[in-house]
Amino acid sequence: MDMVNLKINGMDISVPKGSTILEAARYAGIEIPTLCYMREINEIGACRICVVEVKGARSLVAACVYPVNEGMEVFTNTPTVRNSRKMTLELILSNHDKKCLSCVRSGNCELQKLCKEYGVDESRYDGAMTPSEIDDSALHLVRNNKKCILCRRCVAACREQYVGVIGANARGFDTNIGCAFEKKLADVPCISCGQCIVECPTGALTEKDQIDEVFAAIADPTKHVVVHTAPSVRVTLGECFGMPIGSNVEGKMAAALRRLGFDKVFDTDFGADLTIMEEANEFVERVKNGGVLPMITSCSPGWVKFAETFYPDFIPNLSTCKSPQQMQGATIKTWYAKKNGIDPKDIVCVSIMPCTAKKFEVKRDNQSAAGVPDVDIALTTRELARMIDRAGIKFDLLPDEKFDPILGESTGAAVIFGTSGGVMEAALRTAADWLENKDLENVDYQEIRGMAGVKEATYHVAGMDVKVAVCSGLTNVAKLLDAVRAGEKTYHFIEVMCCPGGCINGGGQPIQPASVRNFVDVKGLRSKALYAADKDMPVRKSHQNPAIKVVYDEFFGKPGSHVAHEVLHTAYVKREKY
Ligand code: SF4
Ligand code: SF4
Ligand code: SF4
Repeated sequence: MDMVNLKINGMDISVPKGSTILEAARYAGIEIPTLCYMREINEIGACRICVVEVKGARSLVAACVYPVNEGMEVFTNTPTVRNSRKMTLELILSNHDKKCLSCVRSGNCELQKLCKEYGVDESRYDGAMTPSEIDDSALHLVRNNKKCILCRRCVAACREQYVGVIGANARGFDTNIGCAFEKKLADVPCISCGQCIVECPTGALTEKDQIDEVFAAIADPTKHVVVHTAPSVRVTLGECFGMPIGSNVEGKMAAALRRLGFDKVFDTDFGADLTIMEEANEFVERVKNGGVLPMITSCSPGWVKFAETFYPDFIPNLSTCKSPQQMQGATIKTWYAKKNGIDPKDIVCVSIMPCTAKKFEVKRDNQSAAGVPDVDIALTTRELARMIDRAGIKFDLLPDEKFDPILGESTGAAVIFGTSGGVMEAALRTAADWLENKDLENVDYQEIRGMAGVKEATYHVAGMDVKVAVCSGLTNVAKLLDAVRAGEKTYHFIEVMCCPGGCINGGGQPIQPASVRNFVDVKGLRSKALYAADKDMPVRKSHQNPAIKVVYDEFFGKPGSHVAHEVLHTAYVKREKY
């Protein structure tokens, strides 16, 4: 590798040719602050927080986009640099509401952290502020441009999702981020993924907070309040309490939910196993009976909304299975309600999800198996963390507890649903056993693991070559679907996840600052923790889950039965209203 030698703050360092000053400083153990910079997706050098001095240059340069040269001398911490950054922060604050006390990002805000580091809390430039209104029109997200610093990271994230419904409106003092023609978010084809929220360095974008609704339900003695938690949440929630990325806090999470007062603490992993029963059966039926192929997974609601909006010709390819969230809720409101003599109307089903699109999904049509919504309230991982804090629960001191039976019992196949490739692997574990009619030894499908945006493999099953693809991030998805549509690619089965890397990187997950995300493989660490959990499970195939067998024996009969179709399957629409 070609290397470049330079000095940073008087220290000699050698870095790969093509590095920026920001990257070179990182090699030298020096952090240069950033606000607008996001590696690969938003390298625009706009915010000017990362400015540094370069010997011989006529002005300060933006370290995030300035390449290193042989013999260069860089200074990252001079009075000129510090004064410039401080003035930039003051200018930003002059157009900011500064309501840190109750801001959901307080303590996890990149602007607040920099203001603290540079001793900035008042601005010399007070005056008029750009007029703005809060946009809370969508089911999943609130935009408050009084906290927006115009970094455009959300715009880049939305463009990366191949949706691009937000951008900069107006010019100069009036510049604001929003939808074209000042439309509300609910009136444009936003697919509710929340990737813009996790990209935002401040509190300008947040999920629509529903924790007061959940606290109210728990306090209502007439309600039986049941909670279930998605596979990926167990390996991300700990980050909200300062634990290392990739910590598995399943036991503490179950304990916290019990202490919050939920009547039953279930695991969406059971719903994931149920999804595999129905989806693997649907796949086998389509293969045997000449059904529509490739079959495409349907458990990611952002992806489903994307397909309905932008690729409606693929609707027949979508599995008719509800998502694990909805299957779990539907089973709670039907089988569990009946077994326990509870009127489904008196059950409040709360889900804890990595995803803001789940807030949209719970309101979809055809998601009410018992005549009432399968799931009443979907909270994000971040909202659960805020509930735990507000209830005064000391998360790190909690013991490890288990989920409640039977809807809290699951397998290794279910837990890997939380990462890209996991749903396909779980489905193959079951479909291959069923097609071969034996208990196959191999449960590890290494070829479809990892964080690549598109993964392909061919597996020889029951005398047939099964061609599969795994795809995450909607730009990758769009390219793959275009290739399938053009006949350039053929597959039997495709897993699609809306968010890059899958649910471990969902729009409802804990927000790591750019200083971490630009340099640490956050997705990889979270994903690794899920595969470790899978490996530790005594049962690693969904159809071998004893709890699943109980619920099929008592209620569903067999996969694809009439009851299963009534309760666990759904339909999709070409979306003209958003
Ligand atoms: S966005 Fe950050 S700086 Fe602004 S009010 Fe919230 S915490 Fe404070
Ligand atoms: S939720 Fe997703 S689709 Fe909607 S504006 Fe944000 S990034 Fe774009
Ligand atoms: S909403 Fe957030 S991410 Fe988007 S431009 Fe404003 S501060 Fe940046």
